[in-house]
Amino acid sequence: MQFIDLNAQQRYRLDNGLTIRELIDSKISKVLNHGKFILGPEVTEVEKKLSSFVGSSFCIGVASGTDALLIALMALGVGPGDEVITTPFSFISTAETIVLLGATPIFIDIDPITYNLDPNKIENTITKNTKAIIAVSLYGQPADFASINKVANKYGIPVIEDAAQSLGATQSNKKSGNLSTIGTTSFFPTKPLGCYGDGGACFTSDEDLANKMRRISKHGSLRRYFHTDIGVNGRLDTIQAAILLAKLEIFSEEIDKRNNIAENYTNLLNNKGFKNTPIIKKSNISSFAQYTVQVERRDFIQEFLKKKSIPTAVHYPIPLNKQPALLNKSRFQNCNNSVFASERVLSLPFHPYLEIETQVEIVNCFIEAINSVS
Ligand SMILES: *Cc1c(COP(=O)(O)O)cnc(C)c1O
Repeated sequence: MQFIDLNAQQRYRLDNGLTIRELIDSKISKVLNHGKFILGPEVTEVEKKLSSFVGSSFCIGVASGTDALLIALMALGVGPGDEVITTPFSFISTAETIVLLGATPIFIDIDPITYNLDPNKIENTITKNTKAIIAVSLYGQPADFASINKVANKYGIPVIEDAAQSLGATQSNKKSGNLSTIGTTSFFPTKPLGCYGDGGACFTSDEDLANKMRRISKHGSLRRYFHTDIGVNGRLDTIQAAILLAKLEIFSEEIDKRNNIAENYTNLLNNKGFKNTPIIKKSNISSFAQYTVQVERRDFIQEFLKKKSIPTAVHYPIPLNKQPALLNKSRFQNCNNSVFASERVLSLPFHPYLEIETQVEIVNCFIEAINSVS
């Protein structure tokens, strides 16, 4: 059994009789024929489709989710002396990019139910040096942007949504990626919308920021050998864009599948008396990048399941404020909820093509593991 089975998607058949694999092959082949490997027509096409999908005015395809964050922060002018308020319960990129620009991540705790930034802790953390807020929509559930934007607007601070895990999710009928000043996402193969290498995107409806992010992603240059900004080599590959075009055809359907499978997991687990299943707020539809529960004696449970060939994962075992690389380069407040979560979260095998029989098998073994702990 695989934790995420990426091949199952390739076998999926479209209404026109083609499998996704065949569609991908034909789109890659087109790129090989036209030869525009850097910023070819597929990049523009996928940017248009993605901005219309999330509802933002602009989309800039970039080289990874990490570059998307870096480029967004650069466009906002984040630099030495600045502070960026963010969550400690995320992948390293969220804070790494802040530090790379010479600014300081200020970690505040998460809401223990959604695992996302607690908006109530933002206001008393804002100083004259606060330049931006990065909220992560973890596991696919959007952070509470109504509340985050409200406090940010009061102080005129821009908000970045790190939507690496939440593309396809919705909050109050708006799509993730379009919930704040800038949305960033990742097309890493195992994300909800994945390519076959690295890729990412920045979304905004602010034209100045869009132009700036576009320039920065191309060495600060819109005209060849004329550079107006310091930028990076952060473009989305044409071949990756072609792959995304094929996968976008079934993306909305896959989000529905993810929600059905998640609901099924929750019902199966709850019916067997296990209650620590994910809680999605009424205003949200999650993209379920992960299906994550909470357990005690996690090591034991993981080992038990591993012996039955059921892979599990921990996102994330160490909060960012405790990462050695960030110790002297960040500041944090009480992050007890993040520490608590980091010791207990466990993600079960999950992807849109997970069969019901496999799910039942996973749940049965999981319950067996829980019962042999107590
Ligand atoms: C995956 C991920 C990233 C980084 O994306 P890459 O494409 O791997 O650079 C950033 N933030 C979060 C929350 C992620 O899950």
